[in-house]
Amino acid sequence: MNTVKLNNGVVMPQLGFGVWQVPDAEATPAVAEALKAGYRSIDTAAAYGNEAGTGAAIAQSGVDRDEVFVTTKLWNDDHGFDATKRAFDASLQKLGLDVLDLYLIHWPTPARDNFVDTWKAFVELQKEGRVRAIGVSNFQPAHLKRLIDETGVAPAVNQIELHPYFQQADVRAFNAEHGIVTEAWSPLGQGGELLTDPVVQKIALAHGKSAAQVVLRWHLQIGNVVIPKSVTPSRIQENIDVFDFELPDAEVEALSTLDRGGRIGPNPDELN
Ligand code: NAD
Repeated sequence: MNTVKLNNGVVMPQLGFGVWQVPDAEATPAVAEALKAGYRSIDTAAAYGNEAGTGAAIAQSGVDRDEVFVTTKLWNDDHGFDATKRAFDASLQKLGLDVLDLYLIHWPTPARDNFVDTWKAFVELQKEGRVRAIGVSNFQPAHLKRLIDETGVAPAVNQIELHPYFQQADVRAFNAEHGIVTEAWSPLGQGGELLTDPVVQKIALAHGKSAAQVVLRWHLQIGNVVIPKSVTPSRIQENIDVFDFELPDAEVEALSTLDRGGRIGPNPDELN
């Protein structure tokens, strides 16, 4: 498994398994299947309502705790210093873990204007050794700049919507300049039109790989961390089977021309 090194030296797998929209009871078999297929990073969130099911799968898997990188996220209603501490405790308890690998602020919710206080609690949780790395999700450069200016601590990761149809060059550049790893959510464009795009299809045919595998390979080669989601065992397997081929530069560039600049998800400046 390819890995990336975060800004505090913690090592994170470059490909993981996302569980958004997977009900709690279904998260256990899905995460079990992913661990069996070789995934060693799981991305959940308090808002997904499946931290318990995810934690159960990890506990029952027989895989050593230190070999699985677990990410969860603080939900919007829990912003603020004290609320963050409480939300973190609740997430850890549901996951059944003593220490979390990565804690992310799910959305900046700028109208609430308290993500800096939230971040101060994150910094403290990390100092206390309760979480190995701290980061954010859906942060725009202006939000990141504020965090860094007001606390002096840059996030290790910024998890953002990112796929060939929505590439966020500006956010990726800001992340790179500040040593923040870019993690792509909805890396497959939620399995929509992207996977039938003629450019993607042509490259897939040339490699004898699927469209999803080609898109994941594009992410890996441009340095993104990816967390594709599926509950179908054959697709769970397919989405990790991306380390036996390489796209030549011309194909990476061809995929990079597909940007349409339009989001699937909400605009982080507007979501509260
Ligand atoms: P995704 O791009 O991973 O697409 C998943 C969908 O694509 C599946 O439901 C399925 O319909 C299809 N699919 C999966 N594998 C396939 C394959 N091999 N062939 C064909 N179709 C396939 O979308 P996602 O679930 O939105 O994003 C992945 C993860 O990112 C989530 O599970 C979650 O962990 C995270 N996420 C985070 C945020 C955030 O705000 N931080 C938002 C959305 C998602």
